[in-house]
Parts: sequence; structure tokens; C-alpha cells
Amino acid sequence: MQFSSFSISRLPRIIFGSGRIKEVPALAAEYGQTALLITGKHSFCSTPRWPSFTASLEAKGMSWLHVTVSGEPSPELVDQTVSQFRSEAIDVVIAIGGGSVLDAAKAIAGLLPHGNSVMDHLEGVGKNITYRGPSKPFIAVPTTAGTGSEATKNAVLSVQGPEGFKKSFRDECLIPEYAVIDPDLLVSCPRELVAADGMDAFTQLLESYVSLKANPFIDALAWSGMSAFKDGFFAAWEGTEPTASHGRAAMAYAALLSGITLAQVGLGSVHGLASPLGAYFPIPHGVVCGTLVAAATDVNIKAMLTREPGNQALAKYAQVGRLLTGHAEMDDTEARTSLTSLLTDWSEKLQLPRLSSYGITETDFPLIVANSRGSSMQTNPIALTDDEINTLLVRRL
Ligand SMILES: [Zn+2]
Repeated sequence: MQFSSFSISRLPRIIFGSGRIKEVPALAAEYGQTALLITGKHSFCSTPRWPSFTASLEAKGMSWLHVTVSGEPSPELVDQTVSQFRSEAIDVVIAIGGGSVLDAAKAIAGLLPHGNSVMDHLEGVGKNITYRGPSKPFIAVPTTAGTGSEATKNAVLSVQGPEGFKKSFRDECLIPEYAVIDPDLLVSCPRELVAADGMDAFTQLLESYVSLKANPFIDALAWSGMSAFKDGFFAAWEGTEPTASHGRAAMAYAALLSGITLAQVGLGSVHGLASPLGAYFPIPHGVVCGTLVAAATDVNIKAMLTREPGNQALAKYAQVGRLLTGHAEMDDTEARTSLTSLLTDWSEKLQLPRLSSYGITETDFPLIVANSRGSSMQTNPIALTDDEINTLLVRRL
């Protein structure tokens, strides 16, 4: 094991387990009397859990306001919501929803005390003004198992179209006070979302495991997350009891860990490409991950075998191959080949759409490649050439 220097930044307080959403009202009451609730349009607030949740907030003496978010959040949505609620004496922001809801709420909580536009702080496209906090206290309750946003310090905001972007508002002050992960909330998640979100979580774990910034502390968490994924993903996706509820708990855990690991050591080429793909085309983030991860892994492995045969990520890919196939006896070469063919099989089994399903053509590749070199690409285990990134895209067109 290599012990080079590393740092671990703040984490939210984590509350994990079946039924634990019931603890949220008491946690929220620690911060005051007025909560802003941010949810998706349907996922939580059309279930019987919603009236019982708001009733228990009221039983703790809290009043609440409610706003819904649909689709991936834009800077405009964040700014509008901040100006709508800025004059209310909000004490705590509670988000209950998927990654988009959590990201929107994280940015809203961060700007409610200040009232300025999120464009002042958005990486790469904003005015580059340093955000100094504080944020309103923020409690994140995921209802999908994917992005791990409940554990991260960034809110991803996007504008879609030819002039589009997908960028982060990022600061340690934005880390939730509490991440409350209740696997029971995943029960209403549609099957295609379980597939795409699960592949996002897996990709995040794999990319952080082989990241250039990887360290033994985070490796242990990434490994634990990938083990949970192997244990529960297909049970959660198939949705047949009695194994499905175990699968949902495994996936809620894997997604949480993927958020922790990505926030600490970064990601790789799939997430580098997710930024331009999501900005210019209507392709959901989880689909980008699921459809590209096999080809991206193969391109990374081939590039390292050719140019950097001593790169330690090669041994790590082999370890993951042995973990996921369950064949501990495989040598490194066989384990790496098995890893890429297993990931390819998964994308077929899950029927993850190809890039062309979203109107992407080969003529779009130069623009996509040129805009793929953000922070995630910087921690890919090997610096890929434009040709290699192009090859990766061609394989999934
Ligand atoms: Zn992701």
C-alpha cells in the first residue's frame, strides 16, 4: 500500500437506515421554526409519506413553505426561488428528492442569506466571485440512489442547448448539515431510473477508485460501495421482493459512498464527457454514465498498457474485475478483459440508449471533446488524447 499525503474534507452528519426519514423533523427543529421544503413534482409529495411528514414538522412547532423542482436545475430557477423566499425568515432548507432536487436546494440554501445571483459563483461561466458563505442549514434526503449529492459540496446547474453549459457552484459551506438516507424512499423509483442512477453511482465509485488523487482511505470506501453495488444493484433493478428491499438498501449505501468518494478524490473521463453531453443534448446524467462506462474503461486500460504500463490504476481495474465477476483466481490481464466485457453486458441488459438516440452525431464530437477537459477529466488515471476520447464516443454512438 502507498501512503502518500492526502487530505479529507468535511462530510455531512450521516443518518442511514430504513424508516429514518421520521427523524428529519426533530433535526430541522434544531435550527428554528420555519423550514423551506424543496421536492420534485411527484416523487415524494404525491405519496402518503408527504402528509405525515408535514404533520410531524408541525407537531415539532415548525411552519413550512414548499417549492417543487422539475428537471435538471438551471441558474434561473435558483435565482428565482431565492428571490421568492428571501423575505421569509427561513431557518432551515430540507430537500427530499433526486439529485436535481438536492442540487437545486443546495444552491438555494447557499444563496438565501445573500440574495445575489448564482452566476456570480458558477465555475467557468460565472463572474468567478469567491463565495464566502454562510449557507442556510441544509438537510438532504435522497429519494433516488445515484448522484450522491447528499454528501458533496457542489450543486450542478445547467442550461441546455447550443450555448448550453453544465457547471458547478462549489464550496465547503454548501455541504449539508445532515444527509438522511432512508432506503424505503427508493420504493417508488421507476425501473429506468434505478438503472441509470445506479450506473451513475457505480461509475462515480469506479472513477474515484482509479483517480489520480486516490488514497487508501477513500479506496476503502470506494471498494465498500462497489461491493454493495455488486450485492444489490440487479435486485433493486428487477424489483422483486424479498430481495428488492435489500437491493435498495445496498444501492442507497453505494450512492452515498459514491458522493463521498467523488467529493474527496474526483472522477474521470465519463464525468468529463457528461458535462458537454448534458449541456448540449437532452441526455440524462445517469444514461451518459451507464452508456459510456464500459468503453471509457477499455480506452483507459488500452492507453495505460501502451503508454504507462506501470500505472497503478491497471492493477486496480483488475481488482474490480475480480470483485464484480467473483473470480478471485483471475490474473490481471484476464480480470481487466472480464471487467470491460461485464460492463458492456450490463449496458445491453439495462438497455441503456446509445448517444445517437439523443440526436448526437459524429459531427458533434469535436465540440464535445473540446469541452470535456474540466475538473473530472483532470483526475482520469491517464491523460487521454483527443483521438482516444473520440474513439470512446464512436463506440457508443
Ligand atoms: Zn455522476
